[in-house]
Amino acid sequence: MADAVTMDKIVSLCKRRGFVFPSSEIYGGLGSSYDYGHYGVLLKDNIKQRWMSSMVQERDDIVALDSSIILHPEVWKASGHVGGFSDPLVDCKFCKKRYRADHLEDSQCGQRPSKKPGETSDCDLTGARQFNLMFETRVGALEETGVPVYLRPETAQGIFINFKNVAAIARRKPPFGIAQVGKSFRNEITPGNFIFRTLEFEQMEMEFFVPPSEADEWYRYWVDERYAWHRRYGIRESHLRIRPHDADELSHYSSGTSDLEYLFPIGWSELEGIANRGDFDLSAHTAASGTKLEWVEQDGSRYTPHVIEPALGVNRSMLAFLVDAYDEEIVAERERTVLRLHPQLAPVKAAVLPLIGKSEDMSGRARKLYEELRQVISVEYDDGGQIGRRYRRHDEIGTPYALTIDDQTLEDDTVTIRERDSLAQERISIARAREHVLDRLVAPWSSPKVDSP
Ligand code: ATP
Repeated sequence: MADAVTMDKIVSLCKRRGFVFPSSEIYGGLGSSYDYGHYGVLLKDNIKQRWMSSMVQERDDIVALDSSIILHPEVWKASGHVGGFSDPLVDCKFCKKRYRADHLEDSQCGQRPSKKPGETSDCDLTGARQFNLMFETRVGALEETGVPVYLRPETAQGIFINFKNVAAIARRKPPFGIAQVGKSFRNEITPGNFIFRTLEFEQMEMEFFVPPSEADEWYRYWVDERYAWHRRYGIRESHLRIRPHDADELSHYSSGTSDLEYLFPIGWSELEGIANRGDFDLSAHTAASGTKLEWVEQDGSRYTPHVIEPALGVNRSMLAFLVDAYDEEIVAERERTVLRLHPQLAPVKAAVLPLIGKSEDMSGRARKLYEELRQVISVEYDDGGQIGRRYRRHDEIGTPYALTIDDQTLEDDTVTIRERDSLAQERISIARAREHVLDRLVAPWSSPKVDSP
């Protein structure tokens, strides 16, 4: 059974609270493109930071890279993307909609959404045709003389072609990895599903280079590691699963791939892919460029490392975190919507609220605390409207802690700290508030949401 959290609810919360807007909305929108508002940017940044931290900061065998979006066009020939990176497409001559030939079963007829394409007597489908997913553009001033180039459809190739540069200076021998976060572009034709699949998106990819004999072991290691990462940041066990690809699904380069699937409102779908790419990439670029991308041991023996790749979309990850966190409940006869995000992912960590905004004593104390906290964490000061309204606004954007300054603060220098999930309130000394919030932020966290698969 699919989760009761519908995509509509997520889309509406994202718009209402400024996480995500349809792109180019005043011009009628552009399909499969979205813009990220203030809280969306903060949430996305936190996801990227947690990923980079687990890949680079918390380990000693992975280094970072930021390669160009536009690479030499030969890169995409060697990688197999020119010629290979395409989807078979089918057009309906009647309703003018275009479908992926391999996804007809999951698509809706353009005229009668309850039917699949081809199921009504009006449907008039063409045969399947190949469609290249890469966006092409030109480098050079003139349309006629410019050199055709592509916007990268994945960040991985930028890593492979830098293998020699990095291996030479990173002072690491395989097994070691290179991690990169950046934009990728695909001329996707499958419509929508909000930010699940978009024309441009950010990827977090890490290529882990290993001696060939260790590839299977490291592949299993990274499947487990990546599963644990999603769990660590709150994804519920009932909504996450590992799906190894069948032999006939594997890409030409892969000897093993597993998808980590999340139970999105559209059903179980790929969240992240972990692939054992063998020596395909380094060998292909060695052959095409003439530069040997291999590892030379101290005794002079050499080999082409095999590559294990975990690849996750930032935006798709954000959607999974939002769906997993979204909750509605009745509290004191009032409904509240709450995002039960992991505190480290929450866009705002704490709200500082003077109980009576108009009281200068209270707002003065609150501003002082706010200014102290914002040195170290993302925090908001809010003195407008009823306190209940302010709490609910912060519940909806997932702020884990609210610090309220009231009459008693003026007497004994304490504030209440209200916890988003349990609604528990505790009085703590204002002098310790910063330490208190920071301690809570680093404590292990698991979702209090009822686990209903
Ligand atoms: P799918 O089958 O969903 O198209 P894929 O197998 O082509 O995905 P990969 O090439 O393995 O995807 O890319 C790695 C990750 O990048 C995916 O698991 C997903 O999180 C993300 N991703 C890929 N394409 C898109 C897209 N168009 N929009 C958003 N995220 C994407």
